[in-house]
Amino acid sequence: MDFRIKILGNNAAVPAHGRNQTSQLVIIHNQYLLLDCGENTQQTLLKSKVNINKIHHIFISHLHGDHYYGLMGLISTMQLFGRKRELSIYAPTILKEIIDLNLKASDTRLNFPITFLSLDQINQGIILDHKHFIVKHFPLTHRIVCNGFLIKEKSKPYRIVKEKLHRGIKLSHIAQFLKGNDARDDEGHLLYSKEDYTLPPKRSLSYAYCSDTVFDVNIIPTIKGVDVLYHESTFLDDLKDRAKDTFHSTASQAATIAKKANVGKLYLGHYSTRYKEIEPFLDEARQIFQNSFLSLEGEEITIAEPK
Ligand SMILES: [Zn+2]
Repeated sequence: MDFRIKILGNNAAVPAHGRNQTSQLVIIHNQYLLLDCGENTQQTLLKSKVNINKIHHIFISHLHGDHYYGLMGLISTMQLFGRKRELSIYAPTILKEIIDLNLKASDTRLNFPITFLSLDQINQGIILDHKHFIVKHFPLTHRIVCNGFLIKEKSKPYRIVKEKLHRGIKLSHIAQFLKGNDARDDEGHLLYSKEDYTLPPKRSLSYAYCSDTVFDVNIIPTIKGVDVLYHESTFLDDLKDRAKDTFHSTASQAATIAKKANVGKLYLGHYSTRYKEIEPFLDEARQIFQNSFLSLEGEEITIAEPK
């Protein structure tokens, strides 16, 4: 099944050098999850040919403008496009007031319901429990309250080896195999062993999104072993004092977190406008963690089991 991330923006603070502010679209098991919503998000969604009314869930990490100023425009367009389907928003509490005030000022009554989940009113844990995956939030250390998000597939079923099936195998037996059980009769006697008809499940894949954060090893237990980690890298290491003062990270700090957390791949982003060229971010990160990459607007990242 699909597990993809479209990068919709990767710059910090303001649009510059052809780069826009932070936003990502995660597509997982046919669900569309938007992570942050910088002001240009609609434009990059259009360029990516994404139907915005397919977005089910929007997660806003924190309320610095470069992470959510695109949200009201997006909601407005959803309305103009005739949305009826419920929209879920997961964000710091005050965002609800901001949305409500905007709607009140423009005398807009939405034709679709918004379900708002206040992240600061629930402890770290599962905020979205889908049939095939979960989303958790966890605290990041930034100038204002900020959340990271962990998206993880649930355990997958055993895989049936179709060539081995025969007339004796009934649907009820297959249902048992999918759960990883042997097929047994009503008295509990073994009929068919799962080892003969199945392969073990595929691994559950995971993605961690760390938007704005100072270098903080406390996040490592939460993101340990994820297949892909996005970790902000606003600065290069020569400005690590500035990174600390502004509660941001450098490329080598992001790579250090990736290495310590033993992740599969690291994607960098949230590049400061002072950098026209972003290749040096990659060079710096790869000195510490080889499997580092730049997040680039318009690019799609596929999360898959390593071959
Ligand atoms: Zn911020």
